[in-house]
Amino acid sequence: MTQPLSRRQTIQILSKHVRFILALPLAPFFSSCLQSPFAQSMTERPKGETMNQASSPGVLDPYRLPRHVVPIRYDLRLEPDLTSASFAGQETITVRVHRPTSDIVLNAIELDISSATIEGESGSARKAAIVLDGTLQRCHLTFTEPVTAGNWRLTIIFSGTLNDKLRGFYRSTYKDENGATHNMAATQFEATDARRAFPCWDEPDFKAVFATTLVIDPTLTAVSNSTIASETREGGKKAVCFADTMKMSTYLVAFIVGRIEPTEPTMVGQTPLRLWAVPGKEHLARFGQDIAAASLSFFEKYYGIPYPGDKLDLLAIPDFASGAMENLGAITYRETALLVDQQSATHGELERVADVVAHENAHMWFGDLVTMSWWNGLWLNEAFATFMEMMAVDAWKPEWKRWDSFGVSRAAAYSVDGLQSTRPIEYPVQAPKDADAMFDVLTYEKGASVLRMLEQHIGPTIFRDGVRDYLHAHAYGNADTNDLWVSLGKIAKQPVPELMNGWIFQPGFPLVTATVSSSSELTIRQQRFSYLSDEQSRPSPDQRWQIPLQMRVTASGKASTSRMLLTEKDTIVPLPHDWESILLNEGGHGFYRVRYAPDLLDRLLNDGIDRLAATERFNLISDAWATTVAGLMPLRDYLDLTARFTVERDKNVWAVLLDSFSFLNRIVTAKDRPALEAFVRGRVGRAVEDLGWAPRSGESEGTKQLRGELIGAQGKLGNDPAIQSRATELYQAYRQDAASVDPNVVPALVAILAHTGDVTRYDEFNACFLSASTPQEERRYLFSLAAFQPKALLTRTLTCTISGEIRTQDAPFLVSAILGSVYGRELAWAFVKTNWEKMDQLFPKQGLRRMCGGIVNLATPTLERDVREFFASRQIDLGGKTLEQYLEHLRIMVNVRERDGAVLRQYLKNFQ
Ligand SMILES: [Zn+2]
Repeated sequence: MTQPLSRRQTIQILSKHVRFILALPLAPFFSSCLQSPFAQSMTERPKGETMNQASSPGVLDPYRLPRHVVPIRYDLRLEPDLTSASFAGQETITVRVHRPTSDIVLNAIELDISSATIEGESGSARKAAIVLDGTLQRCHLTFTEPVTAGNWRLTIIFSGTLNDKLRGFYRSTYKDENGATHNMAATQFEATDARRAFPCWDEPDFKAVFATTLVIDPTLTAVSNSTIASETREGGKKAVCFADTMKMSTYLVAFIVGRIEPTEPTMVGQTPLRLWAVPGKEHLARFGQDIAAASLSFFEKYYGIPYPGDKLDLLAIPDFASGAMENLGAITYRETALLVDQQSATHGELERVADVVAHENAHMWFGDLVTMSWWNGLWLNEAFATFMEMMAVDAWKPEWKRWDSFGVSRAAAYSVDGLQSTRPIEYPVQAPKDADAMFDVLTYEKGASVLRMLEQHIGPTIFRDGVRDYLHAHAYGNADTNDLWVSLGKIAKQPVPELMNGWIFQPGFPLVTATVSSSSELTIRQQRFSYLSDEQSRPSPDQRWQIPLQMRVTASGKASTSRMLLTEKDTIVPLPHDWESILLNEGGHGFYRVRYAPDLLDRLLNDGIDRLAATERFNLISDAWATTVAGLMPLRDYLDLTARFTVERDKNVWAVLLDSFSFLNRIVTAKDRPALEAFVRGRVGRAVEDLGWAPRSGESEGTKQLRGELIGAQGKLGNDPAIQSRATELYQAYRQDAASVDPNVVPALVAILAHTGDVTRYDEFNACFLSASTPQEERRYLFSLAAFQPKALLTRTLTCTISGEIRTQDAPFLVSAILGSVYGRELAWAFVKTNWEKMDQLFPKQGLRRMCGGIVNLATPTLERDVREFFASRQIDLGGKTLEQYLEHLRIMVNVRERDGAVLRQYLKNFQ
């Protein structure tokens, strides 16, 4: 799965807040309609009662199904009615019974099950008594006589509702060009919602073959995981029968029914690849199709295994809770993550589509072909797909320098992993809701960062060969984290588990402190990084990591690189007598922060920061800001340091600087805000002037993006009237001729005009949102409605979030954005408190969780107290450690305000 917003967008929303940084061709395909379930011959791992901890004798795990009955094949028939938002279903599950039993237990929830019968090879059917357990989401089938060991056919008849909660089998709606509303049906099953669509063994290691038939209105189209084997008429309906899938997990099954249209297929080897959208949006599919074809081909070569499905469809769904979902052969997306107009999109919007498409394609092998045994291994799926998405996009567009901007993702992971309430990447998962909370930056970004560190440490070719070994060894099956380390260790001939376990199974990450103890000895100390600076609250001082460290020492003008593995608390490194400067984490691939003793930092800066690579400058300023927030570097020193970056022209480095300024904007008093604005203008002004408003020939995509970011910052955070007035002129020109303004500048214009806008502008932008011609434009104008200052306008926006006018896939993020606005946060918080029950009932679970992320911006002692009281009194649980993390973030912001508020005020006096 992909998160609903891009990393960048997530960071922006999370941290208008946090930004402490800133802010084998293998299985054959059968014709499902013809095959006898007893002809099942695919190899499978026998699921005895010893398969997992859940079935250890005498231990009952309420979240794991018994293992004595195992599904082999599902023949599914579903008949969705889009008008009444309901569906009827019938399934025949071929099961293998390992020992005689009178009870069969499988998962089901929110389904009406009218009948269940079982039939053996002898043919006579036996009826089961059915009991549903809503709490454990199970269906118990009891037979009067034991079912003997062997293969059986279990037939269940059921019905359900196409819900509006964007999970299970759900309804999505859209308006056509004439304003008429149409319904469609789509699915989202990960982690545990297949059980909402059909009774099943809904755990990832119960892999089976799926043969689906969708019975639909003949005017509609149906897509599922495999190619269409046949289409027949049944009375007034059309029965679309899909070919057998490969053996796979329930969470990867998908059905999409509606008025949707495909592009012409691109052939990638033997695989036809198409994009699908609702009518009228097909012209936005070209870019997505190009990266889909390029990445599919890249992965076939990288993995050394052909794509495991028989076709690949990528479908844009108007209502979609996450970013995208890797259903084998039928990947579903929210529209902004797949459909894009190359002419009018910003570089960031194009990169987002490329990233998500490559990510989902990477999953076809890593996740779909080889699947985690249980949800504790989710990180491996997601971290790996995130890592591979970078590899594929970097290979496709090397000029984008994708690994450079990956630094921003790494820093996002640090911001959560620096909390005491962080968690290890992998941890035991029992309840499914704990798995839901795993879809976060620690799983995706920290996971991908440590994989990148390992890849750089053992070498890219060895890493790739280890991955190939792993995929070949576990194809069509399930595997655990250690299985990957075993494969990588075997190829690398190195103790990979020993190296990696510290990064995966313990929380947090190291801060590496460099001091020169004598003129020729460098001491490198590792300790766990923490934002909270009082000694008592510092976590486990003895925590250690095996840190692959790359260091560059300049002596007599010549630089030399050395590599080492830090395993102890302190490591002493001899230095040449004529050393001039030292840089740790050369290349920037290590997952640790660096703190230099003041004299070391001075030498590095005096050596010239322009001699550092962009990723090294990024790390330098990002680490400096993080240690400032942690109270390890004086705020005054950090603010002075930012003055050295007025000549900086790298967008990622600037992202750190701007995010730190946004952070200060959240803790500064209203009285001091004009001085902060003057400070920002002083830091940003030179670069804005230098870059101008229009691209120059030969300019990189990164520079174009930077221009937009800086103009936006100068107009909003800097509150620069000249910039605001020029933005107004340019926006008018843009409305008359969209081609007259570089697409990368347009979001800045919209944001500045909202920032300074009145009710007329609000109505105009609202109209633009409703009539937008691309998903990106729609999103831009929608989020602009959170960026106005007048309270009456922000109240209008908040009201829309629960009135049904805004899709529930977007509404919680809009609330979060207003929580992040210094002009709207009190208002938004009062709104959340008043309307909590309604939001809880209306918004998808993960949306609600993300919305609550906005509370970290309520950075005053009074608001913080109120936030804590509210969540405690309602006993709200957002899953995992999510709420604890938000509250700690908030504590840290308030802590900086209390600790450094006076210093900041004093410093800003020079800028009034
Ligand atoms: Zn994913």
